[in-house]
Amino acid sequence: MKSNRHERLSITLAVSKILNQFMVLLFCIFFLNLSYSQSRKDQSNKTIVVIDPGHGGKDDGATTRNGIKEKDIVLGIASKLVEFNNELLENHLLLFLTRYTDTLISLSDRTELAKKLKADIFISIHCNQAINRTASGTEVFIHPKSEVQAEESAYLGFTIQKGLADILGVKNRGIKFGNFQVLRDYNDSSVTVLLELGFLSQTDEAIYLSKEESQSAVALVILQSIIKFLGL
Ligand SMILES: [Zn+2]
Repeated sequence: MKSNRHERLSITLAVSKILNQFMVLLFCIFFLNLSYSQSRKDQSNKTIVVIDPGHGGKDDGATTRNGIKEKDIVLGIASKLVEFNNELLENHLLLFLTRYTDTLISLSDRTELAKKLKADIFISIHCNQAINRTASGTEVFIHPKSEVQAEESAYLGFTIQKGLADILGVKNRGIKFGNFQVLRDYNDSSVTVLLELGFLSQTDEAIYLSKEESQSAVALVILQSIIKFLGL
């Protein structure tokens, strides 16, 4: 119980810390918008971001010991991203999800959607699982399609991972090359990353990621990192 209270307090502190940073960020965005829209970008030229919550429908992905499914956790985080982009950033990013409900979308349809939308950034979000129940932390996967693409993707991944480590205290397991279809199939020029946000086989991370307030905190860090990556 003691650790639960402590955990709740840490989450509350982390969320309020992020919200404070967002107030500063909102001011900056408002200020930048004035000169930005007057110079070269108009409303139709927003950055297009596609978030891909992994799995769905009959594909549960990983599960926690008490049966909470990866497909629901990642959809929860993705839905919060849409909500915060709308409420906190007034849809500053043009943000789409590959699925908005508990449905199974094929991997090729996920990348097809991103191609049709001409997404500037494609982020597939997942949770990990391992036989070693002590394994913990975040992993970022990129695909080395081209040097520039790999460099930019690694930088976005690095920014998100650093945010999760610095603000939420999640262990950082580094950036790796991964030959995942969703990374491989998307086009050469876009920034494309696959995030493993923690291990559902590790008790503390499973409990943390299952909570709605934690999913909000993770979503805020991802959104803040995208804004930082874009230099806004
Ligand atoms: Zn997964």
